[in-house]
Amino acid sequence: MEQADLRRLESQCVQEETPQCVAACPLHVDAKQFCKLMAQRRIDKAWQVLAKTMPLPGVLARMCGEPCKAACVRQDVGGPINMGTMERYCAENAKPINPPKPLPARNKSVGVVGGGFTGLCAAWELARRGFETTLYCSQLGEGLPPFPEGVLDRELTGLETMGVKIETGFDASVSFIRTLIGDMDAVFVDSDVLPESVRDFGAPDELTLGTQEHGLFVSLQGEDSAILQAATGRRAANSIERFTQGVSMVTGRELEGPYETRLYTNLDNVQSLTSALPERDCSELDVRDEAKRCLQCECMECVKSCEYLRHYKFYPKVYARQIYNNESIVMGTRQANTMINSCMLCGLCETVCPEDFSMADVCLEARRTMVEGDKMPPSAHEFALRDMAFANGEKCSLAKHAPGTDTSDYLFFPGCQLTASDPSGVEAAYADLRNRLGNVGLMLHCCGAPAEWSGRVVLERDSMNDLKQIWESLGAPKIIAACPTCLKSLRAGLPNAEITSHWSLLRVLGIREDSVSPKGPFAINDPCAARHDVVLREDIRSILDTLGADTVEPELSGETTQCCGYGGLLSEANPALGMHVAAKRAEAREEDYVTYCVMCRDMMAKTGKRALHLYDLLYSEVNDPAARPSPGYSERRENRVRLKEHLLRNLWREEPNSVAELFESIDVSFTDEALQRMEQRRILKSDVQKTLLAVRESGKRFVHAETGHYLTSHRPVIVTYWVEYEEQGKSYLVHNVWSHRMHIKGVKS
Ligand code: SF4
Ligand code: SF4
Ligand code: SF4
Repeated sequence: MEQADLRRLESQCVQEETPQCVAACPLHVDAKQFCKLMAQRRIDKAWQVLAKTMPLPGVLARMCGEPCKAACVRQDVGGPINMGTMERYCAENAKPINPPKPLPARNKSVGVVGGGFTGLCAAWELARRGFETTLYCSQLGEGLPPFPEGVLDRELTGLETMGVKIETGFDASVSFIRTLIGDMDAVFVDSDVLPESVRDFGAPDELTLGTQEHGLFVSLQGEDSAILQAATGRRAANSIERFTQGVSMVTGRELEGPYETRLYTNLDNVQSLTSALPERDCSELDVRDEAKRCLQCECMECVKSCEYLRHYKFYPKVYARQIYNNESIVMGTRQANTMINSCMLCGLCETVCPEDFSMADVCLEARRTMVEGDKMPPSAHEFALRDMAFANGEKCSLAKHAPGTDTSDYLFFPGCQLTASDPSGVEAAYADLRNRLGNVGLMLHCCGAPAEWSGRVVLERDSMNDLKQIWESLGAPKIIAACPTCLKSLRAGLPNAEITSHWSLLRVLGIREDSVSPKGPFAINDPCAARHDVVLREDIRSILDTLGADTVEPELSGETTQCCGYGGLLSEANPALGMHVAAKRAEAREEDYVTYCVMCRDMMAKTGKRALHLYDLLYSEVNDPAARPSPGYSERRENRVRLKEHLLRNLWREEPNSVAELFESIDVSFTDEALQRMEQRRILKSDVQKTLLAVRESGKRFVHAETGHYLTSHRPVIVTYWVEYEEQGKSYLVHNVWSHRMHIKGVKS
């Protein structure tokens, strides 16, 4: 990722933008944080928030005209937050604090003329910045309303504590001001005390308050609100700071006063709540309740919807920075690499984001960069890529015209996962399609999604080219795909092909008469691959209606559906998070789920949730298919192999020509514990068979003195497998399995 890309992404995510109340406040008081603390009844802390930003807080907090109210996001859902009343309560009840400690002295002197609120605030701000500040006025606190006893005095004492020299009894005359300009590094004059006769200093510039007189700054006239007067004092101090440093007086000052903010806060589920805060004599509970009405404005729309984003605790702007930083580390950090590989690439974040931020694009691009730079940890996707290669290998892949024909009008493409999970459903669906449409060819192949999700651009392209060649060799028939991910991948990779979903066809052709009459009710689970496929989603609902299924829509469905935990190869790169996501999805509804992505079905089944694939209603002969467990990894492979062999023998009357490998002759069974570990560690039955074959040839093994179990290892390529087993005649019972990538130098496998 280039730095410019990071900047663009950072600005796209609005989560760190200023809340509307803070942006509208001329001093940018952190009203959100103030409300948070007030809601917790931490009044002294809340007071510190005000005092951090406000000059003379004891005075200003009692008389702010609350311009933030007009911008408050609560406006239309019960009315804006009454900041002014709460600030006043806080000023009256919080423990007083010392004025801020000034920065180190700058050895620059500034004269402030005028003892009204603008002048007092300017003096406060200048002293805080380390200027040697003298305040000249005829009378302190001119124009201020009466305050309870001691309030103004305490703030004036604070001014003096900060180092401001106060000289009273002065009238602002031209000659006096000219003398000050000569004696001091800069002078600020409150225009309300400037006599008409001295207007020849020129009108001040609106941004800088500078005049034609070098070093003289004058406030604009007519600012009668205390908060605007305070903001003017701060603006003058900012200008004088720049002036005395000799830097630009104008650049980078856009956010000094009130400004527009891009922060988005979703009000869809916000309950309208009106204020019950009395203007005077309110209690601590009154202000707490008012503060609780604050929405603590923020975006986080994507995080609210996505378990993956929530798991890593931050939001996309932060993740983009982490990914950018990770690219500069030689092999990346383990935590960041896993974070990049854990996004399900499901697109939900982009759909819900007011700024269309796509975390999927960011993570996919990062994966591609890692692969290109040889930085992708092999363990992240290796198993899935091996599985893809197996599905496309000689034992499983198939591409044929329908039996007895040498052309195809259609080509059925069930996808490698449906074939792995429900081979009999695929066989029945293929028979149904041939019955209705005639010459429908069959292609058993992977659509290439694992290559895409793992960031393997070359593999993705090569795999799609292979697929294209096979399709063309069959006469480029219309493709019928059943899996939403296949549909998406094929449409992107074969733009010239005519591709339809099995579901669209069924909607037109009608369903088989012997389809199961479902009981229900079922919650419909839209797979994330169908997020932007309105037609597909409608087809499914129409078929379910035709079946007479009683269905309900989960809260997040259709365009805002959530991934099951398989997408983007999450369950390979971060199995624990994958299962957590699946469990969350499963527990979102009490009803059995019905879906049309077999990986969604299988992920939910793994959590113990009852879930059906639509093929289970249309083509299954199993009793209670919703209880069908998710097949294990070895079983998935065997299902593909058997389906191909079965179809060749029974449909095409051909003998499969794949040669059985020697390891396949090893007769092995597993304890339940061993099977469970194999699933967790992605170890296949064939890996165990190869290991047992190797020990049969080498004789190298350990024996456990007490149990009599043997322990042996084998490293076919880069993974070493360890198997603990016992011999049972000519067969083996496996008790435990492990695997690792570590290679001990000097030890031969
Ligand atoms: S609801 Fe709270 S955070 Fe949001 S604008 Fe209003 S005061 Fe600020
Ligand atoms: S998992 Fe889906 S919603 Fe979450 S960040 Fe990735 S693409 Fe976005
Ligand atoms: S939805 Fe997410 S990515 Fe989009 S602006 Fe909000 S926090 Fe940022």
